[in-house]
Parts: sequence; structure tokens; C-alpha cells
Amino acid sequence: MAQDSERVKRAIEIAKKAHAGQFRKTGEPYIIHPLAVKKILEEWGMDEDTIIAGVLHDTVEDTDLRLDDIKREFGESVAFLVDGVTKLSTARNGMRDIDTYLPETKDNFLRLMIALGDDIRVLIIKLADRLHNLRTLSALPPDKQRKIAKETLEVFAPLADRLNMGLLRVEMADLAFKYVDPKRYAYLKDLIEKHNKSAARVLKKIEQEISAALKKEKINFELSGRVKSVYSLHKKLAKHNQNMGEIYDLTALRIIVDDVTDCYLALGVVHSLYTPMGGRIKDYIAMPKQNGYQSLHTTVITKDKHVIEFQIRTREMHEYAERGLAASFYYNEQKLTENYKKGKIEHLPTNLLWITELQMTAARLREGKKVDLRKLKLNLFADRIFVYTPKGDIIDLPQGALPLDFAYRLHSEIGDHVVGVKINGKMSNLNHKLQHGDIVEIMTSKNQTAKRSWLDKIITPHARQKLLHRLNSNTKK
Ligand code: MN
Repeated sequence: MAQDSERVKRAIEIAKKAHAGQFRKTGEPYIIHPLAVKKILEEWGMDEDTIIAGVLHDTVEDTDLRLDDIKREFGESVAFLVDGVTKLSTARNGMRDIDTYLPETKDNFLRLMIALGDDIRVLIIKLADRLHNLRTLSALPPDKQRKIAKETLEVFAPLADRLNMGLLRVEMADLAFKYVDPKRYAYLKDLIEKHNKSAARVLKKIEQEISAALKKEKINFELSGRVKSVYSLHKKLAKHNQNMGEIYDLTALRIIVDDVTDCYLALGVVHSLYTPMGGRIKDYIAMPKQNGYQSLHTTVITKDKHVIEFQIRTREMHEYAERGLAASFYYNEQKLTENYKKGKIEHLPTNLLWITELQMTAARLREGKKVDLRKLKLNLFADRIFVYTPKGDIIDLPQGALPLDFAYRLHSEIGDHVVGVKINGKMSNLNHKLQHGDIVEIMTSKNQTAKRSWLDKIITPHARQKLLHRLNSNTKK
């Protein structure tokens, strides 16, 4: 491992002091956790600011250290990252139990994470944090284990997938699934292991055949096996009525080549050796997946009637498939800034443009430029707005929402007692449509009671239901 820089050493010192006397559920000193997060971020090849923010990620929330201290010591960028991670976890704490916030709110949480992660590095730190917590989950009581595991499957693993961090997605999903459904996990894991054992000899023969054929065509290549994850097998089986006969990719081989042309040449070689199965050739090179994943997939049947999937890709595609955005982050960031200065938008697969836009906004924020959040046109949030409480909590509402929708979203006690609203520090009224990025402060009074006329001043079903409930119980009194 590379030597820690002076800044990183200093961050470790500060974090150690701040967390002194705190312990994890495992009984170990707390500092073990931020140091583990640091190590994960280093393995992902993240930049120094992200690594420092990883070391400090729990200090603002859990210790006396303040954001100002971090800003003074390590600069704007590190402070921005720590602040983002802190906001995320505060937002999450406010969300109570996963069982009550799923499934509808889970999408909101995902949106929220992305919104707060306008610097994508915030999300990457959060993912590293979650990964280490999962790796040490056995120390927690069973109900907490289940909660964290379930939330991982519903929110964090899909997020890793969205960022095309394949290795992380698989590790997270399998760690979590073990806690969500231990019996099923054990059963499927055993099944995969048995399958791998019996497939080993077949695979060896195929590897020899394919190697010889590729060499003959003078294609530079590398071969590797791919282990199917327990959780993805579970999901696939659920989709196919538990019919193992429908699972064609239990055995898979990867061919990694130098360039795109060689990908198609290698595909030709595979098809000249074995019979391709109809409808199972997928060209994700010409048509990348939503998360930017690229590869050629084909399922073939060998002469001995074995079914095997081939995945063919370039080294670059492979790297991106396994490490995703973390891998290309640094590269992107630099190119992005260059191109941004030239007024060009980076060419990424269309569906990854949201990341570019987020990063450009983050870059502008970091340069201290004013950013009009309203101009951020992200398809992802097309129908939603994000507004803030004066404390900086973020609330996700549909387009066109009014102050009472916001108030009832905070708490029905707040909703019932609204006397006024300040928007961005200015007095406003209850008919005022909230805008993306508004800071909304609700004023209440004990003496206020909910009014029937308010029904015209709300648009969300949630607020409507709360208000009707209050009106009905008032009439009964
Ligand atoms: Mn943490």
C-alpha cells in the first residue's frame, strides 16, 4: 500500500482524537471503521480528498469536530464531501424503519442520495461506509442486521449497479442476502458450488478449444471464469418460476481482448466452434446498458450438450464493468473540467449524462460560483422537486407542491398548526408553489386548528389524508 501523505496522516490523527473513547458494536475502538473505509476507497483508486473525507466521514455527526474545523484544516472540497455524507446519514436517520419506508420511499431515498451526491464522490464514500458496515454486520442484534441488509438490497446494491460498480454490487448483495434469507442463501450457495465443481472439467476443455482457436486468428486475449452471485441467481430463479432449466449463465467464461474489432472477431470464433442459442446474443457494445455497461454476450451449446455463456469485452470495458464510476471517476473529473472550460459536454453513454450534469454542478459549487438548482434539468427528477428545511434537511415533493404539502410531510402536528410560511427567508402564502431548491420555513401556533379550506391548498395524497383525518376527528369532538 502506498505511503500516506502528510494530509492523510493528519486526518487520521484528528479522527483518532475525535473518536477517542468511542467503540463499535464489535467492541473494537471506533477508529477501526473510518480506517477501513479509507482502505476501501484506496482500493477503488479514489483521490486524496475523497480518502481524507472517508477518514473523517463520521466525525461531524458523532463527535465534537465541526465542519468549519475540517474546512480550515483540509479545505473546501473535503468539507463539502464530509458535509454530504453527514447530510445523507441525517436524512436516512429521519426515515425510520425500512419496512415503513419501503417500497415507495425507497425510490425517494435513492433520489435523495443522488441529489445530495451532486458530487458523485459523496455516494462513493457512502458506499464504502456501507460495505464495511456489512462486512462487520454480525456484531449487531438480529433486527438491526435485517434492517441494514434489507436496505442494502433495496437501495445500496441498486445504486452500485447504477454506477456500474459490478464487484461492489455483487459483494454487497451477497453479504446482505445472507442476513435477509439465511436458509435460501445457504441452499443456493451450495447449489452454485456443486455446479462449479461439476463444470470445472467441462470448462477446462472449452478453455483449451477456445484458446487454440483465438490464437489461430492471432487475437490477443485473456480468459477468465466468472462466478455467479447467489443473489443474482435467486432473482433469476424468481423470474423463471424457480426453473433451473431456464438459467443459462451458471457457467460463464470471459474473453478480454484489445479492441472492439477483436470483440466481434472473438464472437465469430466462438460461434464457429459452438452452436449459438437463438435469441441469446446480446450486443451491449453497440447498445450499452443504462449504467454504461458494455460487452458482447452469447450463450452456446457445446458438442457435449453443455450450455455456457461467453462475455466478450475490451480491457477498458472490463475495468469499467467491475469498478464502474469509481474507476473512471478521476479520468472523468479531469476531462470534465477541461471540456467544461471549452464549453463542451463530455461524451458519456446518454444515460450517464446525469452524472456529468451533477459533477458539473458540483464543480461550479466548488469554485464558489452561484448555481441555480432550478436549471438543473435531470430527467431522473423530472417530476420531483427538492426543497430544504432551514436546518438543511432535504424534502422530496412532487412538482407543484404547496407549503401545506411540505408541512404535513414534516409532521401532521406541524401541518395542523400552520399559521404562515417563509420561503427563502421571505414571508409568503399558502398558495405559493414551491420551487426546486427553496428553503421553506413553516410557522406554527398551538392555537391554530386545521381548516377545511386548506383542502384546496394541497396537492399530495399524503397531506390530504392527514388533513381529512384531522378535520374528521375535530367534528367528532
Ligand atoms: Mn460510518
